[in-house]
Amino acid sequence: MGIRSSIRIIMNGELKILGTGNAMCSRCYNTCFVLRAGGTSLLVDGGGGNGVLTQLRRAGVRVEDIHHVFVTHSHTDHILGIIWVIRRIVPMMHNGKYNGTLTVMGNETVITNLRAMCMMTMSDKITSHFDNDVIFKTLAHGETVTAGEIELTAFDSTSPVSTTPQFGFTALLPDGKRVAVPGDEPLTEASHEWVKDADWLLSEAFCLYRDRDRFRPYEKNHSTALDAAMTAARLGVKHLVLYHTEDVTLATRRENYSAEAATRFSGTIHVPDDLETITI
Ligand SMILES: [Zn+2]
Repeated sequence: MGIRSSIRIIMNGELKILGTGNAMCSRCYNTCFVLRAGGTSLLVDGGGGNGVLTQLRRAGVRVEDIHHVFVTHSHTDHILGIIWVIRRIVPMMHNGKYNGTLTVMGNETVITNLRAMCMMTMSDKITSHFDNDVIFKTLAHGETVTAGEIELTAFDSTSPVSTTPQFGFTALLPDGKRVAVPGDEPLTEASHEWVKDADWLLSEAFCLYRDRDRFRPYEKNHSTALDAAMTAARLGVKHLVLYHTEDVTLATRRENYSAEAATRFSGTIHVPDDLETITI
């Protein structure tokens, strides 16, 4: 009796980091990235504007390959770039240069606000595609959806002091790896169960702990490299990415943030610059 074996070639996933800065950065782009796995390119957040199109081009990501978008929350530095991505893609649908649909996912506030802003700023020619070729999908806490070859489970990561609802997600990649993306606030205790034992944790870290009096991260509901490292160690993740930082110390950011995080976390630590690719 013959044994039939199927060989499945699974390529590594990758993060195409488009931006690494906090909301008010001007020396780099706001934090957003493309998670690529299998044949899927998932855009996570859009930064604060048209610059997302520049970053996508510079990163070598074709917008026609993006069919899924996840927006964590409704703040300017995350949601506004998505308006430009939609504005860019819909005319390509017209011209036959974009096949299939674009699905934009987020919590109820994100979807309500994003749709309203699109309706206020775009022509009928664009908005007539909404709900046909451009799908606005409201996610519920704990809901699992497929985005191409990536399985996403959304969770409410809103902190008690937050001004707007925020959703994070864990992404299950075709090769079985799990990537946790809580958003741009410190991880709440309630969110720990979603992130625990993930292969990758993408965490905000506004500044170094030793620079906390200079940059005051806690007043802005952000954390430090040290805080993120302690959380990563506690939750047993293997790889930690730090982003959504201040942009005054970019020249030394990788070296110093990595060193501080390494005092509490023994896994691999990545402090990427804009346009860097991280293999996952
Ligand atoms: Zn932010």
